Amino acid sequence: MFITESIAHYAERQPEKIYTTYEGRTWTYHSFYEKAKRVASYFQQKGYEKDDIIALYALNSDIFLVCYFGIQLGGFTAMPVNTKLAAPEVEYIFLNSEAKALIYDVRIEETIQKTAHSFQDVLQIGGEDRVGQVIADEALIFRPVALQPEDTAVVMYTSGTTGKPKGVMLTHANIRAAAEIWSEAMAITENDRMLVATPLFHCAAAHVFVVPVTYKGGSLIIEEAFSPDRTVRMLQESAPTMFFGVPAMYSILLNMPAIRETRLPALRLFCYGAAPMPYELVKKLKEIFPDVGLQNCYGQTENAPAASSLKDEFALDKIGSVGEVLPQTEIRIADEFGESLPAGQVGEIVVKGPQVMKGYLRNEEATHQTIRNGWLYTGDLGKFDEDGLLYIVDRKKDMIIRGGENVYPVEVEEVLYQIPQLLEAAVVGVPHEVYGEVPKAYAVKKQGQKISEQAIKDYCATQLAKYKVPLEVEFMEELPRNASGKVLKHTLRKAENTVS
Ligand code: ATP
Repeated sequence: MFITESIAHYAERQPEKIYTTYEGRTWTYHSFYEKAKRVASYFQQKGYEKDDIIALYALNSDIFLVCYFGIQLGGFTAMPVNTKLAAPEVEYIFLNSEAKALIYDVRIEETIQKTAHSFQDVLQIGGEDRVGQVIADEALIFRPVALQPEDTAVVMYTSGTTGKPKGVMLTHANIRAAAEIWSEAMAITENDRMLVATPLFHCAAAHVFVVPVTYKGGSLIIEEAFSPDRTVRMLQESAPTMFFGVPAMYSILLNMPAIRETRLPALRLFCYGAAPMPYELVKKLKEIFPDVGLQNCYGQTENAPAASSLKDEFALDKIGSVGEVLPQTEIRIADEFGESLPAGQVGEIVVKGPQVMKGYLRNEEATHQTIRNGWLYTGDLGKFDEDGLLYIVDRKKDMIIRGGENVYPVEVEEVLYQIPQLLEAAVVGVPHEVYGEVPKAYAVKKQGQKISEQAIKDYCATQLAKYKVPLEVEFMEELPRNASGKVLKHTLRKAENTVS
């Protein structure tokens, strides 16, 4: 069953079951499906064709999902666009994808108004609310479409932390695979209620959580965005069974005094991923919520995302691991010639499975560079241990070569997170006259805390080889991050750095 067929299935089998809750409004599977069908019918009546791309630029809401699944249901391609991007970046995506129609949220229309791309159709969510009219229009008659496994269901642009954004084409079969893989890995059932507070335009919220929960007939509690006080309240009041946060969110939540008084009897799983989760945060989560399971989810947009996952039983023992290879998936560690390396050796993580993308939209060269002999080259450096657990050592392009010695920023960051006065930290390579490149740390102090640069370096020297110790530490108010919580290391590197 494709994911849209799962919605149809539950609309018939459990029509009154609540599927989405947003701002106190609830939609059952039946009412959600009716609305999604109208979105599909609208584009069908307008004569859109298979493979036509419909861009979706909106904040999280139930309407977002109605559009997202409605577009796919009609046999078209949904393209959620990162709402944190600046107008020229959004314009690039509109142009590069040749999107035919746009659905946008008037609450964030400023960026859209600065773009010049012309669409056949533009529909607003809010304001004159064309989308609201469409989903209320009972006269729209849906024509069921026979979806093909290899048809592109979704295009998601990578955030461009490694270069120009590229449109990842995920097929109906890829998304179904993500549904099967993650629902098995997280033992999701119809009783699960997922609190979604990360952006729906990002692959993690969409395909690690929304899609698998939908596939099993569970429920979604949708938050417009992450807001620490509100999220803590929602975790208590809406009694979800699952929650996903990127490490930066956990860092904020775990530093809130209110968190220790929070009671979460229904919650069974705290999930994290999208960026390395510092061990200190894992320990603190377990200390405050010993009864809640932990699950680290690893993948990239290019594989839906689904590559590996660390389960609760290993969360504290296998420090820094992203866990076991997921069902239906193969992972190898490849050397520079693509040959497999044995356990313990560091190489590029390469992934194979039914969730691996069809390719990059209109970019065959990048597709051929990334998918070789059926293996997806992730750009992450990693290794397996003797028990078959995977570790990400770092992103290939973030590795620092200090006078011939490799320094992996993640390893240094782990040590910085052990320093109680620091809230967060990032390490990048900066040019150096003698060593070519050296590690430099950027650190954010916790409110009211004091620590000197020298004290940080001294602590690092007790935990790390001398060549890994940052030569300089710069304090910041906050780290630059993208919408999925990743530190924008290229922004830090660009800050005209040289260390002598
Ligand atoms: P770009 O490819 O342009 O950098 P992006 O960063 O948005 O875009 P994503 O597909 O969102 O791309 O991110 C995938 C990367 O995020 C992985 O390759 C890995 O480096 C990192 N990542 C994802 N999950 C985890 C995890 N659980 N632990 C550590 N790192 C992770």
